[in-house]
Amino acid sequence: LEPAYSFMIRTRTPGGVVSPEQWLKLDRIATTFAERGLRITTRQAFQFHGVIKTELKPTMQAINAALIDTLAACGDVNRNVAVAANPHQSRAHARVHAQAAALSEHLLPNTRAYYEIWLDEEKVSGSGEEAEPIYGAGYLPRKFKIGFAIPPYNDVDVFAQDLGFIAIIDDGELRGYDVTVGGGMGATHGDQETYPRLGNVIGFIPPERLTAVAEAVVTTQRDWGNRVVRKRARLKYTIDDRGLEAFQAEVERRAGGALEPARGFRFVHNGDRFGWVQSDDDATRWHLTLRIVAGRIWDRDGLSHLTGLRHIAQLLHEADAAPGTVAPEFRMTANQNLVIANVPAALRARVDALLEHHGLDTHARATPSRLNAIACVALPTCGLAMAEAERYLPEFITRLEGLLDRHGLREQPINVRLSGCPNGCSRPYLGEIALVGKAPGRYNLMLGADHRGQRLNRLHRENVDEAAILAALDPLLADYAAQRTAGEYFGDYLVRAGVIAVPAKDDRT
Ligand code: SF4
Repeated sequence: LEPAYSFMIRTRTPGGVVSPEQWLKLDRIATTFAERGLRITTRQAFQFHGVIKTELKPTMQAINAALIDTLAACGDVNRNVAVAANPHQSRAHARVHAQAAALSEHLLPNTRAYYEIWLDEEKVSGSGEEAEPIYGAGYLPRKFKIGFAIPPYNDVDVFAQDLGFIAIIDDGELRGYDVTVGGGMGATHGDQETYPRLGNVIGFIPPERLTAVAEAVVTTQRDWGNRVVRKRARLKYTIDDRGLEAFQAEVERRAGGALEPARGFRFVHNGDRFGWVQSDDDATRWHLTLRIVAGRIWDRDGLSHLTGLRHIAQLLHEADAAPGTVAPEFRMTANQNLVIANVPAALRARVDALLEHHGLDTHARATPSRLNAIACVALPTCGLAMAEAERYLPEFITRLEGLLDRHGLREQPINVRLSGCPNGCSRPYLGEIALVGKAPGRYNLMLGADHRGQRLNRLHRENVDEAAILAALDPLLADYAAQRTAGEYFGDYLVRAGVIAVPAKDDRT
């Protein structure tokens, strides 16, 4: 008798957008085949957990029937392209999103194996080898991540991406992008050869050079990346091993010309903006950002979030059919939250009533630190987890809020990130306060990142339990409350006060 293997399936959803109709289909898949509802990832994808082996194929086919696939959502290829959350806010936002979606398509592998294995497509006769002009015979040395940020919000943490594009918008028009290369979060405990790294800004490109430059970066990494030591295979190590100048020169050679000098940008934070906002260019459309704790949407533990969002999707699906309306959409954010976009003004009240009925309106009540906290899946479903993250997040935030209350800091936004291991799926090295799992109940306490995703944090206490974490934070928060300057964030204070020393190479502020 075979053991009851179960699997995680992750979708490819560039920019994290699905229609209400697709949402209803994904909801059906979650309730039919998965164990733990729908989960929004930090790359704006969905994960289905606990899909048993015998139901893998029907699940994949159901996902495909919803016009979504899982191709290249994992593996040594370009992963789900992350994009600033709401393209409907302005015309320039929409253009950035369209370019990101086109780049995602351009960088897909050509393999038909996915369709043959999961969708029963006829096997193509011949040598069995497809032409892969970008990936070649050996694909990339390691996974590859691309993100598009639109200042002043760095909600995709663009400096954590292998390749980042920071939109330069002037007079409402997209002028191009400042380009970053070499970001990445993953590390291994106790291995100095591995480390988180922030991307470097290497210059500016106009929109029409996007594909050529992206392809040049990807193929240079394909050819130059470390294929011997897998832990050193990410682009960030290629750049550190070969030198940024040499890497950029090769990219420019392959892309057909030098990049222009970077234009410059200013980020104000790397979180989401919760609640309703109106389109800049259409007063009849509204967009709502909801807080989804650790991205988990399910009907359990007294919650009915999956049901509530199903009712909202049904409502918007019916509205979608009305002629002359702009289609409503569900958009996942790279901070595991959910934007319900393009809601007609006439439906706002009904959406609000459903949110309240199903307890989905927590953004209106939660502290800023709770709203912005993110956590990876970790236990019980991630095989690499050393400690809890998603399941521990609400409890840890409650403990932290106790400290914040004590020092009059309840309304102070502090970015908190929890990770079950040093792989860094929740981008923990960009948290002002971060816990990185070492063992059950024990974490490395990392402090001192900024609030804009431009400075890495540093280790403050190693392998400590909750009591030691809170004991370490208590006096620091007390000093911060007493000594902060106007508008100064916690991470910035810790660096200014000399509590945390961050080397220049880890600081892009
Ligand atoms: Fe990623 Fe590690 Fe968290 Fe698993 S435990 S989700 S590998 S960071």
